[in-house]
Amino acid sequence: MDNEIHIYNSLKNQIELFKPIKEGEIGIYVCGPTVYSSSHMGHARSAIVFDVIVRFLRQIGYKVNYIRNFTDIDDKIIDQASKLNSTSAEIANKYKAEYIQDMQNLGCISPDHQPCVSENINEIIELISKIIDKGYAYSANGDVYFEIEKFSDYGKLSNQSTEAMLSNTRIELNPNKKNDLDFALWKNAKPDEPSWESPWGKGRPGWHIECSAMSCKYLGEQFDIHGGGRDLIFPHHENEIAQSECISNKNFANYWIHNGLININKEKMSKSIGNIVNIKDALERWNKNLIRIFFLTHHYRTPVDLSEEKLIEVEKSLKKLSKKIAQSKADKSNDFEKAWKKCMSDDFNTAKAFGIFFKYANEGKLSLNNSKNLEEFENVMGISGWRDMISENKTIEINQSEIESIIAERNIARENKDWSKADELRSKAEEMGVTLVDHGKNTEWTIKNQ
Ligand SMILES: [Zn+2]
Repeated sequence: MDNEIHIYNSLKNQIELFKPIKEGEIGIYVCGPTVYSSSHMGHARSAIVFDVIVRFLRQIGYKVNYIRNFTDIDDKIIDQASKLNSTSAEIANKYKAEYIQDMQNLGCISPDHQPCVSENINEIIELISKIIDKGYAYSANGDVYFEIEKFSDYGKLSNQSTEAMLSNTRIELNPNKKNDLDFALWKNAKPDEPSWESPWGKGRPGWHIECSAMSCKYLGEQFDIHGGGRDLIFPHHENEIAQSECISNKNFANYWIHNGLININKEKMSKSIGNIVNIKDALERWNKNLIRIFFLTHHYRTPVDLSEEKLIEVEKSLKKLSKKIAQSKADKSNDFEKAWKKCMSDDFNTAKAFGIFFKYANEGKLSLNNSKNLEEFENVMGISGWRDMISENKTIEINQSEIESIIAERNIARENKDWSKADELRSKAEEMGVTLVDHGKNTEWTIKNQ
């Protein structure tokens, strides 16, 4: 490998030198969405963060096996289906397809595998049986619970006491549980809910078990990197660790990467506040490259405050930057590549890497003459084509007074019946991205359709 990588490992709360289990290869599992409604900008940020991490690791020579799941069986999906008088499968399939489309529209590469819970029920039942056999889970009235007291490392990721766990999350209270913190591996079937046959009767998996089962299927009992949003640390990732490590007696994932969450206009984005911004709506308003650059100019661990003003600001600075690059005559190689890769090798610091990019471009060191240098950076950030997006916008940057003076000059030519002059002036306006429309003696102008 060209570079040594350091990663902030949430499991140890420290930066560590990254060592893959198998030389040159990396297995990475990222928790994907629960498909019960349209995906929002929080999903977009997480997807872009891990997209760039995978692109970078591949760029520096690693063979990466990238897995992201779909939770297609869940209380939220069942609730949504009953609200809309639909089935769980219909709801899940609809939003799964929408998510895949959203990811494509955001320019994210597809993971190597995108498994769903509904396609891995056998693997899940098998894992639950093993956990029961080893004495870490118990069945009660058709439910199966993981008994957290049996797993002495419980809490090692979120680093909190059981009292804190009880107060920090909404715990599902159930008389079948021995301890309030015990969590469901299998839930007894309720009428009108999707269910499968199992040794404990008809039912469906709890939420957490799917990620233990599916990561093991594709990456083995122990793998390199586990990712997800910060909000998943407890209870979801804590529970994944318990379910997997009680069986394997090995570290489940060696490095845990958690991305920060997003705020909308300084408020936490949430359904209850009603300020959720869907990816679909955002992409109608903003170019995907602008959205990516906006997120990537923040370190993945910090929270991001998303606002229209900030996006407009980024757009403005990108316009300037694109001009600088187009005007630069630099043709000598420089240490741009070394500089941004160093930032990326230090806990995937895209914010610093973009800082380097802006600096070099502003100093005129990046040009279309040495575009290979530039393109490699753009490929890793997944922003190829951003310079076209900016120049597309440039055609709309019309100098109004210049157009007015062309129209005035052309009106004189028309009065003088100098048609060739009038046509010449019309072409000049066209070149500026403007169409002239004559209404008798008056002329109006509109922005030319692209
Ligand atoms: Zn998960």
